[in-house]
Amino acid sequence: MADKPNQRGAILVLGGGIAGITAAVEAAEVGYPVYLVEKEPFLGGRVIRMNQYFPKLCPPTCGMEINFKRIKNNPRITFYTMAEVAEIRGREGAYEVKVKIRPRFVNERCTACGKCAEVCEREIPNPFNYGMSKIKAAYLPHEMAFPQRYVLAPEIIGTEDAKRCQEACAYGAVDLAMGPETVDLKVAAIVAATGWEPYDAARIDNLGFGKAANVINNVMMERLAASNGPTGGRIVRPSDGKEAKTIAFCQCAGQRDENHLPFCSRVCCLASLKQAQYIREQFPDSKVYIFYIDLRAMGTNEDFLVKIQGDHNVQMIKGKIAKVTEDPATKDVIVEAEDTAAGAISRVKVDMLVLATGMVPSTAKEKIPGLASGYDADGFILEAPGIYGAGCNKYPLDVRATIQDATGAALKAIQSAVGR
Ligand SMILES: Cc1cc2nc3c(=O)[nH]c(=O)nc-3n(C[C@H](O)[C@H](O)[C@H](O)COP(=O)(O)OP(=O)(O)OC[C@H]3O[C@@H](n4cnc5c(N)ncnc54)[C@H](O)[C@@H]3O)c2cc1C
Repeated sequence: MADKPNQRGAILVLGGGIAGITAAVEAAEVGYPVYLVEKEPFLGGRVIRMNQYFPKLCPPTCGMEINFKRIKNNPRITFYTMAEVAEIRGREGAYEVKVKIRPRFVNERCTACGKCAEVCEREIPNPFNYGMSKIKAAYLPHEMAFPQRYVLAPEIIGTEDAKRCQEACAYGAVDLAMGPETVDLKVAAIVAATGWEPYDAARIDNLGFGKAANVINNVMMERLAASNGPTGGRIVRPSDGKEAKTIAFCQCAGQRDENHLPFCSRVCCLASLKQAQYIREQFPDSKVYIFYIDLRAMGTNEDFLVKIQGDHNVQMIKGKIAKVTEDPATKDVIVEAEDTAAGAISRVKVDMLVLATGMVPSTAKEKIPGLASGYDADGFILEAPGIYGAGCNKYPLDVRATIQDATGAALKAIQSAVGR
């Protein structure tokens, strides 16, 4: 993180997921100074937590690494992690922005050697794995994290653990005196790329999330299948670690439902088809059931749908799941739905149920202080001259469309910044 606030014609990008990263590098490579502000301790957003991503089904690092290199090599990009906007004032061409940075307690001398983690005794739920595993309270968010720098969880500050971490660091990188900081920026345009969060499935009464041990959501499934995930990539049940060989997917878990999310999240059908393939590849004797209202696979993604439909061990059942119960003895999940094509009740007992929850804009819960363009009824960002949305905080998108959208947002931001 180079610190050079207040360059002329600068662009502020909020959110360091694929949308924010794209907008930042595209604008910087044209020649504009960019400040990239990310609230997590690492860049990469939700994509970096995937096992694989369609359409090519490659690991997320293959696309991200190139972008991290573009950021590292571009002196026009200043990025802040663990940072959020506290205030925005002004208008197109002349915004004044306050950015608050939470202390990391580890400075740029960190070599990611891991000595602090070795001596740290306390463990915390691993946020990268959605709490499905624990991690030391002195931690690297994940192996490929950018920046490659450890973090000390605030829980250990003021404890013996923190002292031990400091003493163990041969480079003087653990800085327990670090406090919150504020940076004042002057920018000409703002790209808001604050992304999405999974819909809270516990709010859907009949689907068993938070009640039945082996009901998980689709982002947890990505982590279960990932080789750097909580189980080293073994798809097993949370209740007993047994291989999950019969799995049901519940499509539209909240989406297209006036009581939850009135919109379609666009990618969940493809995500479940991709995850069905993870299971079928890992366990050749597995069986997958996909309960759906409509299966949506736009453009060339249709080929992937057709491929999965051709697998006789993947059964697609047109019907909305009505009831989910747990067998108290085995912790198996019993799923009941009306099969509208067969005109009968479909009842299956599975090892695990995956809820294909939708993408909620992160701004549905927490608004960006002072962002004058406003939001629609679902919390998606609206635009105004000088303020442009990018990616999934504007509408649900896959990665390819997010990159195109963010490139467009960079151009709009440049138009607001040119000559300023
Ligand atoms: C289960 C599932 C599987 C998927 N699989 C695929 C796939 O295989 N292929 C595909 O193309 N798409 C897939 N997607 C869609 C993909 O995840 C999105 O297209 C992508 O994450 C959009 O990127 P983004 O940058 O808009 O948002 P995000 O990835 O959410 O990034 C937003 C960033 O902004 C940060 N942020 C949030 N609020 C603030 C704030 N106030 N200040 C600063 N920073 C903030 C966040 O920490 C995050 O780093 C999948 C989606 C789901 C639900």
